[in-house]
Amino acid sequence: MNILQIVKKGDLHAQHGEVMDIANPSEEHAMLRSMVRDWVNEFVEPQAFEHDKHERFNLDLLRSMGDMGLLGISAPEEHGGAGLDATACAIVHEELSASDPGFALAYLAHAMLFVNNLAYNGNEDQKARILPKVCSGEWIGAMAMSEPDAGTDVLGLTTSAVQQDDGTWKLNGRKMWITNGCLDETGTPADVVWVYARTGTDDKGRVQLSTFLVEAGMPGYSVGQKIYDKTGMRASNTAELVFDDCIVPAENLVGGLGESLIHMMCNLEVERLTLAAMSLGIGRRCLDEMNRYATDRTAFRNKIRDFGQIQKHIGDSWAKYRAMRAYIYDTAANMKLGKAGHRLDSDGVKLFSSTAAKEIADSAIQVMGGYGYVGEYHVERLWRDSKLLEIGGGTIESHQKNIVKDLFKNPESVNQ
Ligand SMILES: Cc1cc2nc3c(=O)[nH]c(=O)nc-3n(C[C@H](O)[C@H](O)[C@H](O)COP(=O)(O)OP(=O)(O)OC[C@H]3O[C@@H](n4cnc5c(N)ncnc54)[C@H](O)[C@@H]3O)c2cc1C
Repeated sequence: MNILQIVKKGDLHAQHGEVMDIANPSEEHAMLRSMVRDWVNEFVEPQAFEHDKHERFNLDLLRSMGDMGLLGISAPEEHGGAGLDATACAIVHEELSASDPGFALAYLAHAMLFVNNLAYNGNEDQKARILPKVCSGEWIGAMAMSEPDAGTDVLGLTTSAVQQDDGTWKLNGRKMWITNGCLDETGTPADVVWVYARTGTDDKGRVQLSTFLVEAGMPGYSVGQKIYDKTGMRASNTAELVFDDCIVPAENLVGGLGESLIHMMCNLEVERLTLAAMSLGIGRRCLDEMNRYATDRTAFRNKIRDFGQIQKHIGDSWAKYRAMRAYIYDTAANMKLGKAGHRLDSDGVKLFSSTAAKEIADSAIQVMGGYGYVGEYHVERLWRDSKLLEIGGGTIESHQKNIVKDLFKNPESVNQ
């Protein structure tokens, strides 16, 4: 086949004249974005500054997202969800984070780390009983993997679960850094937590991790402490959770024994995609702020946007913003929720976007000078929030290692 034969097939002309917006691939996606953006402007933006300042989580605002169907965005409709795809998930996270990344993180912990996990890995009974509650906002969920002595090294976690004679499980251990782990200032624990625990070793002597649904009121489940003085994401609650002879009924084991790694691998991909989308929201907002400011501000009788060094900050930020936007929505379009197999790009997109967002936020502060350095102008908050995205959901070092591992297994990925 030569080039003329390809042209005759008409494929090269298929998109001619049409504007293709990778971030809004369908009319429904564009409508979702517009609905969320309007809601964010009306309800999220006015509270963002104060909640960050006082390290307060806006629980009522999160619950209210259930009315719009956003809390179960990827959960099946039959259980109260909206049944939407990975692109829709990315859109919601981008829009929330452009205003309030701390609040967006609380949403992510609920909608992605808990609800999406249950929707794709829970059994029918668990889904029928719990999904309607978490999709409506009656219950707020969390996911507990990290521990005081084990983060990146997941197989090093020590929280244990031992089955009792009556079939119930007894959990012992502590979980650290759990977003939504506590819901308020009085130590009320998350209504339901997706907990990873050690249940022994398999036939080959490898650590066996299993997944449990722990619900508020189960004996032995409590908040150890709410963690204060975080650099950023101060509008979300981060807590240590304690499981002290915590009794969990047999029916709250998710999947079979030793299946946690499957749950983790599958859910980490959408977690990383949506954390990248949060980075995009931060990058977009910071670029918008610095671009407007550079027009309004004059120095030496010129708009500061006429200075070459300011142009470098804005020009480089635009290119980074557009690059991450394309990579995020390309990854989302290729991601099938509930199916693992997108690790290379879910790691790649978070690796690139988290650092790009931090750099754009840093440029925004620099362009805005002293004003950029104080809270009222937003970008210093976004700069602090952006740092978490290089750590949570996998550190940038872990993404680099995973990418190199995957490219070793499949070198042809580079040429596809
Ligand atoms: C605000 C916030 C919210 C969070 N929310 C949650 C949550 O909801 N649920 C949850 O389970 N966890 C949560 N986390 C935990 C988060 O996922 C971990 O902090 C993260 O996985 C890193 O683990 P760690 O902090 O134990 O660091 P470590 O794993 O101890 O890493 C320390 C440093 O060593 C590096 N390192 C580790 N191993 C290697 C290696 N093999 N090669 C090269 N470098 C390496 C890391 O990249 C990092 O730079 C949250 C954390 C924060 C700060």
